[in-house]
Amino acid sequence: MPGDLFKKPSLQERINTVKSVVRFDVVAKALNLWRDGAAAPDCPHCQAKAELQACHDGNGYHCGACHSRGDMIDLVQAVKQGFTGDAVTWLELNCASSKAEQPELDL
Ligand SMILES: [Zn+2]
Repeated sequence: MPGDLFKKPSLQERINTVKSVVRFDVVAKALNLWRDGAAAPDCPHCQAKAELQACHDGNGYHCGACHSRGDMIDLVQAVKQGFTGDAVTWLELNCASSKAEQPELDL
């Protein structure tokens, strides 16, 4: 089916793509959570300073003060207060190109 080539990706496919390409530090900076010179981003849930950490897999975050945790989409929603689709769109527009700009190839 030639039409399948132009099929729009489903929200779940876009979520998977966004999760695979966005990085914690890039998202935190784009959300203005990571102030210049701070050791880590501020928490959008409890406003604790420099308490937000990336999880081991790099696809999630957790707060050392209030123990909130989630993925990058949850982090965007905590700041922007939108629906999941809105957060995915925001990540696609603001953060999804960050890995493509890196010179090293991930083979
Ligand atoms: Zn917190």
